Amino acid sequence: MLGDFHVHTQYCQHGADDKMEAYVLQAIEKGFTHLSFTEHAPLPESFTDPAPHRDSTMDRNKVEAYVMEGKALQKQYKNDLQINIGFEVDYIRGYEQETQTFLDMYGPEMDDGILSVHMLQAPDKSFFCIDYSEEEFERAADAFGGLTPLYKAYYGSLQASVEADLGHFKPKRIGHITLVQKFQLAYPKPADFSKEQHLLLDLIKNKGYELDVNTAGLYKAFCKEIYPPAELIAYAAKTGIPLVPGSDSHAAGGIGKGFEYLSDYSLHLPQRLTL
Ligand SMILES: [Zn+2]
Ligand SMILES: [Zn+2]
Repeated sequence: MLGDFHVHTQYCQHGADDKMEAYVLQAIEKGFTHLSFTEHAPLPESFTDPAPHRDSTMDRNKVEAYVMEGKALQKQYKNDLQINIGFEVDYIRGYEQETQTFLDMYGPEMDDGILSVHMLQAPDKSFFCIDYSEEEFERAADAFGGLTPLYKAYYGSLQASVEADLGHFKPKRIGHITLVQKFQLAYPKPADFSKEQHLLLDLIKNKGYELDVNTAGLYKAFCKEIYPPAELIAYAAKTGIPLVPGSDSHAAGGIGKGFEYLSDYSLHLPQRLTL
């Protein structure tokens, strides 16, 4: 296995306190050659985190410390592991300019990155963090007028994320493209969205982007499948989209978790964001 390219750290407010070095040591122990730190970038300043504990991302004033700690580890372990420093950046419709401002500022420091949709705006203009909890997911579905419009808004926002102009340092990997299914065993998928999903993958292919093949969903009590599931991974592979594995670990022990389920796929290193 090449490595784990979707990893959080102690800087994430909703994860474990394990230090970045603990993740590095775990990756080395697993025999990986690469590791990408992709901490949740701070949300746009004018955006209020809709998650009940306002803990969706890292603190804005910790960004420098995160980057410096990552760079120190990069040097320290350079003979054992290629460490990439980057961010999982939220794509929030209507906040493209502020998102680009962040990327323009920190992009030059980034080796890798993921662009993800977690936040959706309901017709009444309120925002929801759709993966926060079952309760929040249910509240979101109510606000959207049902699961079908919620799913449609999710895929619409993902398509917009691929097409958005976020400047030179826009991440080239689209995160967990079936996150809306995180609670599917509690709230069954209301319809077949393969048309939207295939359209999304076609857009990803046309842009030359990559797919985050994310094993975290396997371990979510109400999901129990990889983001995205096998048939979409197969479609992406057939289309020629690079598949980049990620555990989405929020604790050091999660590095590479579930990667045994990816052994049938040909996996790729991410393209570097900066050279
Ligand atoms: Zn997280
Ligand atoms: Zn995410």
